[in-house]
Amino acid sequence: MEIAKTIEDIRNQVSDLKARGKKVAFVPTMGALHGGHLSLIKMARQYADAVVVSIYVNPEQFGPSEDFGSYPRTTESDLELCEKEEVEVVFLPDTETIYGSAEKYFSIEIKELNDYLDGGSRPGYFQGIVLVVNKLFNIVKPDVSVFGQKDYQQYRIIEQMVKEFNHETELLMAPIGRANDGLALSSRNAYLSEEERKIAASLYRSLQYIEQQIKAGVLEPALLLKHQQDELEAKGFRNDYLAAFSMDKMSPVSKLEKGNQYVLAGAVYLGKTRLIDNIIIEI
Ligand code: AMP
Repeated sequence: MEIAKTIEDIRNQVSDLKARGKKVAFVPTMGALHGGHLSLIKMARQYADAVVVSIYVNPEQFGPSEDFGSYPRTTESDLELCEKEEVEVVFLPDTETIYGSAEKYFSIEIKELNDYLDGGSRPGYFQGIVLVVNKLFNIVKPDVSVFGQKDYQQYRIIEQMVKEFNHETELLMAPIGRANDGLALSSRNAYLSEEERKIAASLYRSLQYIEQQIKAGVLEPALLLKHQQDELEAKGFRNDYLAAFSMDKMSPVSKLEKGNQYVLAGAVYLGKTRLIDNIIIEI
């Protein structure tokens, strides 16, 4: 496994792979790798001949009061996991490499898709993500790129970015990797106390219950959503959002229609940990 730290390094590595006729798949991550990331790597492997994983905690996607400083950094074990998965190249840049030190004159404005869910709750979050993913796509130039359904809004925004900025990469979305009790795997789960971890899967339980009720015919789910939020509050969660959203516009939908797909998504705080999860439902 090669480890590339500079842009020149990673470009040379990818050029070599492509020159040898290999289709290159890319899995961008912020490290602290877990089973969810591994399923992305496995999917990448299925669709390409060589896998490039990037590990970079992107400061631009953290708000001033968010957890950039304490975000788990486990580079050594991440590299071991990548080695085990027979990843061809890990791109491990530092911030000087990604952003340089000169003053920046440009940013990317997201005009749609960003008003609700995490876009609504975390100002600047997706601007930071599209900035870094745009850079990473320009640097790595992957044939295929894999993102997780866990961050569905991220997938949708990147899908639109690829279209509008003419990136030549095919996007794939990997299903959500979960722990045995259903909790969506996340690097931030490391923040949960033992007690918090015991109830953390409640968000997924609520989503499953709402899905069941919608499928049973509750097509105006406002009350249902409110009840589930109340139940989560009673268990000790602090609600951010819980709603059905349109798959393409990422806006909340109060009246669901048969024959359509929606993303049923929720975000809660449990102590200092923010948890997100979603289910794609087809009615
Ligand atoms: P992160 O390191 O959290 O920025 O995530 C890197 C990639 O892994 C993103 O495409 C995420 O959507 C994806 N990912 C994170 N957790 C999961 C999970 N539990 N299941 C599937 N994909 C995930």
